[in-house]
Amino acid sequence: MSEIRNIQTNEPIRVRFAPSPTGIMHLGNIRTALMNFLFARQKNGIFVLRIEDTDPQRDFDPEGRQIIQDLEWLGLSYDEGPHKGGPYAPYYQSQRSAIYQEQLNVLIKNKSVYRCFCTTTELETKRQRQITLKQPPRYDQTCYKLSKEAIADKLAIDTPFIWRFHIDQNKKAEFKDLGHGNMSFDLVNFSDFPLTRQDGSFTFIFANCVDDIAMKINYVFRGDDHTSNTVNQVVLYQAFNAKLPIYWHMPIICNLEGKKLSKREFGFSLRDLREAGFLSEAINNYLSIIGASFENEILTLDEIIAQYNFDNISSANQIKYDVEKLRWINHKWIGQLDTQELLKRCMPILEKNYSDIAQQDHNTLLNLIALVQTDLVTLNDVVPAVRFYFIKPVIASDQIQAIKPNAPLEKISKILSNNLELLKDSENFLKIVTVTAKEAGIKLSDMMPIIRMILTGSPQGPHIGQIITILGWQEAEARFQSYFG
Ligand code: GLU
Repeated sequence: MSEIRNIQTNEPIRVRFAPSPTGIMHLGNIRTALMNFLFARQKNGIFVLRIEDTDPQRDFDPEGRQIIQDLEWLGLSYDEGPHKGGPYAPYYQSQRSAIYQEQLNVLIKNKSVYRCFCTTTELETKRQRQITLKQPPRYDQTCYKLSKEAIADKLAIDTPFIWRFHIDQNKKAEFKDLGHGNMSFDLVNFSDFPLTRQDGSFTFIFANCVDDIAMKINYVFRGDDHTSNTVNQVVLYQAFNAKLPIYWHMPIICNLEGKKLSKREFGFSLRDLREAGFLSEAINNYLSIIGASFENEILTLDEIIAQYNFDNISSANQIKYDVEKLRWINHKWIGQLDTQELLKRCMPILEKNYSDIAQQDHNTLLNLIALVQTDLVTLNDVVPAVRFYFIKPVIASDQIQAIKPNAPLEKISKILSNNLELLKDSENFLKIVTVTAKEAGIKLSDMMPIIRMILTGSPQGPHIGQIITILGWQEAEARFQSYFG
């Protein structure tokens, strides 16, 4: 029996997404939010959103508005958090200082922490020296060794200090990880760490851990880059005599060369993907299936919730981000979207590009979208795909000749201009062209791309009969005429 089911029967599953409001929701964040969401939904648990806004250097998105909006866009709804409230409110760390102070007092009382008076410059000098001596940079416990009198003297002259947690380096920190199994770290490789900053604020390691305990979080899924923070937090849990959560240190998302995805790479942020016309369904779908195995790869969130196997998580510590695969999934998703819905999502993009779109009849627009739907890889592809409808192509004969260098252009022109009346019948257009081309000894594979080019400006695209229907014969005829003209 797996850990998940054991725990589930005893206490409700509680997971959380705890981003810092940096203003950028990147792929790693989205995947973390997604996995927590999927786990909560699959196990009938609670998904909490907590905004970790105590570090002014990472606080660029007031109140986490962008994060909240992005989660909503992705359809990853949380059960407790900002604007929703919940039994462990507030869900902004900036409003929880009193709780941190209270918990710090517990640690002061049980002597797990001590005052550290070392200045940033002193610490940096020691760190540099250790690096030069090829020693691992660690706090040397200067202030742990201070006598009571020395401490009193420093306090008497108001020497600034921080609270530092003392770890017993003879011990080990052990915890369970869904991907890596039982993990054990010798604390001899770790050093006493700060819980507060000089300005009195609390560090990430401390506030994050206090909140997880207070909010009864029993599964912590976060990026692999947090593993060493977890070691420190495990000793904090012990000092609070609190039950450890089960962790999943999720693989870091890398590019195809195996390097950590950088801000400059396309698709790093959700904004990139949204602006490029990716659907939330496709992004969730892609980020769920990478690193896992599914028989059918195109899945809705509900299907992923039902099928995701949290009992069999790979131990890989990186996964590769493949934009081409994401594009393929997006293409499949666009193809299966209801046409009304697709039109709704394309409208803002179309409005930006075709000013006269407001005058178009809704059904015509629906037909137009239906015509190009399976050609779209991203929503933005709709712009070139329907351009033929809004803008009459201007094409020179040499452009046409270039697509079929051996086609008898003059002959084709003549057949078309002589048969315009006949061709009016868009339903039978293909049949008529086939017969006329055959009679004139012209290959259909030469003729069709040319006709499409005249009508749309591109040799590839939707079915010609449908192009004529949507343009209306008058417009189609005018396009033929302007070419012969
Ligand atoms: N605020 C942390 C971050 O954004 C949270 C890490 C965690 O999930 O514990 O990386």
